[in-house]
Order: sequence, then structure tokens, then C-alpha cells
Amino acid sequence: MSGRLDVHTPSGSYPIYIGAGIRHRLGEWLAARDFTQQAVVITDENVAPLYAQDVCGALEGANFAVTLITLPPGERHKNLDTVRRVYDKVVYAGIDRQTPIIALGGGVIGDLSGFVAATVLRGVPFVQMPTTLLAMVDASVGGKTGVDLPQGKNLVGAFKFPEMVIADVDTLATLPQVEIACGLAEVIKHGIIGDPSILEAIRRGHWSWPALVERAVRVKIEVVEEDPFEKGRRAVLNLGHTFAHALEKVLDYRLRHGQAVAMGLVAATRLGVELGLTDPRMVTEVADLVQQVGLPRHWQDIADMGPPPSVDEVLAAMMTDKKRVQQRLRFIVPRGYGRVDIITDVPPHLVREVVAEMLGPSSGGGI
Ligand code: ADP
Ligand code: ZN
Repeated sequence: MSGRLDVHTPSGSYPIYIGAGIRHRLGEWLAARDFTQQAVVITDENVAPLYAQDVCGALEGANFAVTLITLPPGERHKNLDTVRRVYDKVVYAGIDRQTPIIALGGGVIGDLSGFVAATVLRGVPFVQMPTTLLAMVDASVGGKTGVDLPQGKNLVGAFKFPEMVIADVDTLATLPQVEIACGLAEVIKHGIIGDPSILEAIRRGHWSWPALVERAVRVKIEVVEEDPFEKGRRAVLNLGHTFAHALEKVLDYRLRHGQAVAMGLVAATRLGVELGLTDPRMVTEVADLVQQVGLPRHWQDIADMGPPPSVDEVLAAMMTDKKRVQQRLRFIVPRGYGRVDIITDVPPHLVREVVAEMLGPSSGGGI
């Protein structure tokens, strides 16, 4: 019972399997490849007690010798110190160029393991088994891997396409509700970019995980295949993210990425309205959807975090982010469902207004 999507990359294609219970099929799928009968599984301390035994068992059942590496959870550990520890362990295990490294976990484990797989022995096969909704719909397509530096997130990394991705939606059953909601922020983003039926399913509050994940992944595949190395069109995947990244940074990452993205999606839609490109009803619709799944629409929804940062702080964080790319103000804006565009030369006063609304709706202008 699983679906399969294929991602075409400049260096070949790879399958994404999406289904319930498919973690048990890992051994079978790997055995069909030309790999060494040895495998490394990298996971974290939360995921290991839940799924490591199943995954290692599936590999052993197909006659792979398995090395399990369990790391402490959290973005805090996604750094070069951890990478070095993993290098030590995989080299000690005696891997060769055809030993697959399997990432079993969320985005943190996927990013870090992918970076190790891209670099150790100048690259070994990489397999992703995402166990968070976010990692299933976002990190498993695109080939971006990396770790953080003290100076900022994801500053060291490599493009590394996996051999295959196995998204077992049964693992979502143990994922905390807040992590589900955060994943849904990216699912909603993908719905706005390329498949309004996703939004309809969420609005009805009725969906099956394999179908929802598959649809969301399909949107990302379409965009990434058009632009595998992030030269242009792929920027639409950053919908809501200029606002989100600024907010996360100003709040020193106390806000979860998905929560920041939710507020960013509402803000980006509002910017479209301010620019005269977007139907004002879309702001309410996006906000309602975000709220329905338990995500914040604007600061009032997370007021328990304390008073909001100032508009100027958020704008300043946004500008430093932008300057790295170009001087002109460039935003991703939904003109409608399935019609997302990159808009350059956005007037700064409109951005200010939208940020002000995000941090606290002015009288009369609220949602
Ligand atoms: P992401 O960036 O994809 O949100 P993380 O790697 O930060 O992923 O994972 C979020 C948290 O959820 C981590 O604490 C991780 O250990 C935990 N986790 C990941 N997958 C599961 C799962 N299927 N069940 C329970 N907890 C999980
Ligand atoms: Zn994101």
C-alpha cells in the first residue's frame, strides 16, 4: 500500500515512496540496489526507541550489517562537532563508497546525515526516511543538506540527492501535535503554490496522510524539477519565508519555523492585496486555514510569548536577509491559488504596513 513519485535531478532520478507501514520494506528496496551489504542508520534519541528497531530489523532481514548512530535531538546539535563525531563512527565501522547512510528522523537528522553522506569518502549513497511531516513534504525533495554555524543556520552544506526517500506516514502517529501543525504550514504553502485541492482537504478537516503528503510533495517536485539548483523559479517555495525568517531571527528562534511560516503566509497574501495583485478575500481564507490547524495568523495568536518585537526590528532583520541576494526588495506573493509570483521592487512602505499588521492589526484592518 504505497504510492511512488519520481524526482528527476541533473544527476539522475530517485523515487519517493509514500505509504503506511513502508519502513519495513527498506531492506527489500535497498537489496535491489548495488550497495555493500552494510548500512549506517542515523537517528535521534526520540526516534530511536520508536522506530530504530523496525528499520534495523528490515535491513538485517535483507542481510545488511547495520551500524546504528543515535544523536541527541534538536537543531542545537546540527553542527560541525556532531558531524565530526559521526565521521569518527562511520569510518570506525569500516564503510566503503557503496555503503548507504540512512537518515531516520526529522529535518535535523536529514540535513546532518545528508551532509555526512555527501562528504565522507567524497560521497556515499544516501537514503532518507523522514519521520516528521515537515521533513516528508519539505526536506525530502530538493537535495539540500547542511549544518549550522555559530554565525547562522545552514551556512555549510552541499546538494546531495538521495537514492530514495521512504516516507512512512505511520510514523506521524507519534509526532507531537505541534509538530504536525508546523508541518501543515508547509503543506498549506504547497497548496497555495500549486494545488488548491490540498487547501480544500484541510478546510474540510478530512484527509488521509498518504494522499495529503503525496499531493504536497508533488507540488515541490514540480517546482524543484524546473529549477534544481535554485537559480530562479524555485524561489516561489520561499512563499511566506521572508517574513518568517525575519521573525524567527528577531525572536532568537523561540518561535517554531512552521508557526513563523504560518504568519508569513498570511503576511505575503496581504502584501499581494496591498500591491493590488490579490483578491482581499484570500487573506481571510489563508488566515482561517492557518488558524483551523492551530497555527498563529498574527502576533495576537501567540501573545503568551510576551509583547511583540518592533516593526523596525523585523524590517531590519528582513533587510539583512535580502541584502545577501540583491539590493532591491523582492517578495514572493500569491496572486491567487496556484498563481504565485516573484515580485521585485516592492515599495518599502507597503512592506512596513504588512509587518505592522502581522505584529498587531491596526484598528479596522484586522482579520
Ligand atoms: P523537523 O525539522 O522536521 O521539524 P526535527 O528533526 O527538529 O524535525 O524533529 C522535531 C522533533 O520531533 C525532534 O525532537 C524529533 O526528535 C522528534 N521526532 C521526529 N520524528 C518523530 C516521530 N515520528 N515521533 C515522535 N517524535 C519525533
Ligand atoms: Zn520552511
